[in-house]
Amino acid sequence: MGQVGKEVVYEGIPVSRGIVFGPLHVVARGFSAPEVHPIGNVPREIERFKEALRLTGKQLDGLRSHMESLSGNEEACIFEAHMLVLEDPIVLNGVPKAIRERHQNAEYCFYAVMQNQLESMRRIPDPFLRDRTADIEDVCQRVLRNFAAEENQSPGDEPDHQHILVSYDLSPSDTAQMDRHNVLGFATEQGSTNSHTAILARSLGIPAIVGLQNAVFNLHTLAPCILDGYSGKLIVDPTAETTTHYRELERGRKRERAKLDKLRDADAVTTDGRKITLSANIEFEHELKLVERSGAKGVGLFRTEFFLLEREECPNEEEQAALYSRVAKSVAPNDVIFRTLDAGGDKVPGEPLTEPEPNPFLGWRGIRFSLARKDLFKEQLRAILRAGVGRRIGLMFPLISGLGEVKAAKKLLADSMSELTARGVEFNQEISVGAMIEVPSAAMVAAEIAAEVDFLSIGTNDLIQYTLAVDRVNPRVAYLYRAGHPGVIRLIKAVIEGASQQRIWTGICGEMAGDLIMLPLLVGLGIDELSVGAPLLPLVKQAVRHLNYAECSTLATKCLLACETREIVRLCSAAAQAAYPELIDQGGGAEMDPSSC
Ligand code: PEP
Ligand code: MG
Repeated sequence: MGQVGKEVVYEGIPVSRGIVFGPLHVVARGFSAPEVHPIGNVPREIERFKEALRLTGKQLDGLRSHMESLSGNEEACIFEAHMLVLEDPIVLNGVPKAIRERHQNAEYCFYAVMQNQLESMRRIPDPFLRDRTADIEDVCQRVLRNFAAEENQSPGDEPDHQHILVSYDLSPSDTAQMDRHNVLGFATEQGSTNSHTAILARSLGIPAIVGLQNAVFNLHTLAPCILDGYSGKLIVDPTAETTTHYRELERGRKRERAKLDKLRDADAVTTDGRKITLSANIEFEHELKLVERSGAKGVGLFRTEFFLLEREECPNEEEQAALYSRVAKSVAPNDVIFRTLDAGGDKVPGEPLTEPEPNPFLGWRGIRFSLARKDLFKEQLRAILRAGVGRRIGLMFPLISGLGEVKAAKKLLADSMSELTARGVEFNQEISVGAMIEVPSAAMVAAEIAAEVDFLSIGTNDLIQYTLAVDRVNPRVAYLYRAGHPGVIRLIKAVIEGASQQRIWTGICGEMAGDLIMLPLLVGLGIDELSVGAPLLPLVKQAVRHLNYAECSTLATKCLLACETREIVRLCSAAAQAAYPELIDQGGGAEMDPSSC
């Protein structure tokens, strides 16, 4: 964090590009930070604080009695523990002291004192204390709500004006449900580049930063700010000079985007004639407009789990078929590939589908879940088959670790077809079936898997995490998460070779597909398709059009012999710099502006 006069610059990791300007809205763990303002009448503020505590105590007592009558003393004890928080001298004495010393409003002083307390507790590696922080957060939320009730506000809700959200963390479902109009961009203290939260931000075109240390604690709701999703900077209270600089930068990016829009109907073809299919990754139906504008040759990955799991109840076959049909119709005459449910990992599914697991990325996720829940799986398969009538569609299975899973999934697909036939329901009998290669064991038997399917799509987000044993969402080990590791590159080559032995195509639908530094290598390895978030697609197309396939093949040969990541990255950077320096210098920053769709 650096300070220039009043302006304060926080630095994090950029995960979704774009520059936005607006007031902040700060959300601590589980509750929004109240606005802060100076006060003149200290006794009145202390009285407001006491009143909020009294009201909270009354509510907790009511909840305790209610719980006792329903399920007995043990559950009711939870609320007794909550009441103890209100009696803690840190609260009772600390908050009035803060009001007197800071001359700030009661809710903000309460918030600041509690945040301080929570931060110290989180640093103590004691599981009992950690559990207790959840109780305290709960009580904080209740007290803040009571302050707000008095003012007729709702602190837990999102503000009804445009803002930049700063939050301790955001789950993929928080991101999915974000109000795209009001949330201009977001920054979190936690998070990593390859989490689904970051992927969603890129897909939706929401500028975003993660890993912004101590931001929640130090920032105030409504402070004016600039979020720079290219460099990972959050500039609070920017000077007029900084604002002018960023406005100019943004204008430059817009000009670049306008140039790329002209490539909409052009092919992604290298200077010596090798065509790459560029398709788009989507999670939501509303992204289809962007897909169309991007010039994508279809949808290479539709992550169906966001549709299936973001509701209280899993949509039934009819509802699913209706959505998949609308998607297929919108993308026609191009293909759409539906990825069957990929529950688990960091995409926490709604109860009661799965339970928390100690190692969610190594546990019950992807195809493992679907093969165990045949009822849900077949319902989805039937819906996809029905949506494909008269259209070119595909489906693919996530997290395949070996041939057995492919065969088992195909058997259930055949059963689903028989069931539709028995019901007299029309479906697509020619649907193309693919396997996602995301686990090293599957990459090692790619040729055998390829014999069973019509295409392979490499999910590099997971392939990298499983090859290098690096949790893709853990910022502590993020420095080890390297797409250019020789182990990863050799596995990708093995998959492409396995597929070509069976004369089927191979694509990449992980984030590596949009990495402009790695692009010359992927082309040189012989990849057929790249599927990327729609906002990034025009930029990748422009880059492919600057590459020479023969040169990329030579690069690939060198990289396959390299033993160290840095050597591969050096070779790829040099190739990318030589082919499209202007795109690299922009930091790949000229992707489409989704707000203009
Ligand atoms: C991948 O793992 O690369 C992939 C595309 O799937 P997801 O990111 O949804 O796990
Ligand atoms: Mg994956």
